[in-house]
Amino acid sequence: MRTLDQINFKDQRAVIRVDFNVPLNEKLEVTDPTRIQAAQPTIQHILAQGGSCVLISHLGRPKAKDPKLSLGNITNTVAEILGVPVSFSEHCVGSEAEALTAALPAGGVLLMENLRFHEEETKGDLTFAEQLSNLGTVYVNDAFGTAHRAHASTTIMAQFFEKKCFGKLLEKEVLAIEKVMSNGEAPILAILGGAKVSSKITIIESLLDKVDHLIIGGGMVYTFTKALGGKVGNSICEPDFCDYALELLDKAKQKGVEIHLPVDVVAGDAFSNDAEQEVFDVMEIPKGWEAMDAGPKSCEIFDELILKCKTILWNGPMGVFEFPNFAMGTIAVGESIGRATQKGAFSLVGGGDSVAAVKQFGLEFKMSYISTGGGAMLESLEGKTLPGISALD
Ligand code: AMP
Repeated sequence: MRTLDQINFKDQRAVIRVDFNVPLNEKLEVTDPTRIQAAQPTIQHILAQGGSCVLISHLGRPKAKDPKLSLGNITNTVAEILGVPVSFSEHCVGSEAEALTAALPAGGVLLMENLRFHEEETKGDLTFAEQLSNLGTVYVNDAFGTAHRAHASTTIMAQFFEKKCFGKLLEKEVLAIEKVMSNGEAPILAILGGAKVSSKITIIESLLDKVDHLIIGGGMVYTFTKALGGKVGNSICEPDFCDYALELLDKAKQKGVEIHLPVDVVAGDAFSNDAEQEVFDVMEIPKGWEAMDAGPKSCEIFDELILKCKTILWNGPMGVFEFPNFAMGTIAVGESIGRATQKGAFSLVGGGDSVAAVKQFGLEFKMSYISTGGGAMLESLEGKTLPGISALD
């Protein structure tokens, strides 16, 4: 892995692909600066060595130029977070943009306009990528959130640089994934929740080759229990995937992976936070009841298992955690992972809703690592090599 430490940035102008795709409110203020904060160590490292930084990013999904999605709107926030002056270029390619980058002194930071104002960005256009490469002398990719896309700025432009490397955030993300997928300490446990089996097939298949235990939670459970002859009531279920679920259980057995399903569930008499609640055996959910969380006995069993494991991956909530009355299972599993981490286990939380849940329930600081990339994390768990990462090799 080519890291920042292998390059001397003195008098170099680093073009850094950051992920500043941050949420904005109606007043165009940044409501969650996490992604900007995450890029700070890389930028500070380069500035401290006497280099300058040209920051390139996308914001939102504009079809064409859209003032609401201009990176000019966040320049002040970026400057406040970095604690240094940041100037803004209204263009991300072309002669004006190149002139501004060429005039950037050592220690300077320049934020370029939204890359996705040019459709060539997402098309991975070679000419556009070459134009982007004129902005600096070293290419640094620190945008894990887009590393699974072969876009001009995330992948294609790397070929025009002799000097290129991972940023600190990208490096941390890749090392965290490797710690689970290649060199994790046993016993290794994956906890997969979320709504549907159909959307997690490739991940489950890939994890069966990596882990010792797999907890299946969330709405996926009821496709498995139905396949095993259980009654699922009104719970979310994908009957078309029942055969596949049985196949998976069989595969897991052959590979020596223990699959753990909840033994009890908290169900509601309607899909609502205020629904009447009752706990049922997972195989005996009556008609008119919809299972929306793991039950107390399951949480106890999961707790015991989680505390025995040394490497833990968590993707997907245990239930409908958006309803506070059905969030207990998700919170309990998060707390158990937090305690295992305190005891020395490595825990990685990644991919969408489990990250949201961890943040919502104040569990963030109890985990070893929380991934910043949804889709990129999911593709990594599927065992794929991300184009943005292979482009740096
Ligand atoms: P995913 O994006 O596949 O990780 O799914 C996350 C979503 O799954 C969340 O919005 C949860 O509300 C939902 N979910 C988890 N458990 C259940 C369940 N038992 N019934 C319905 N939806 C669920």
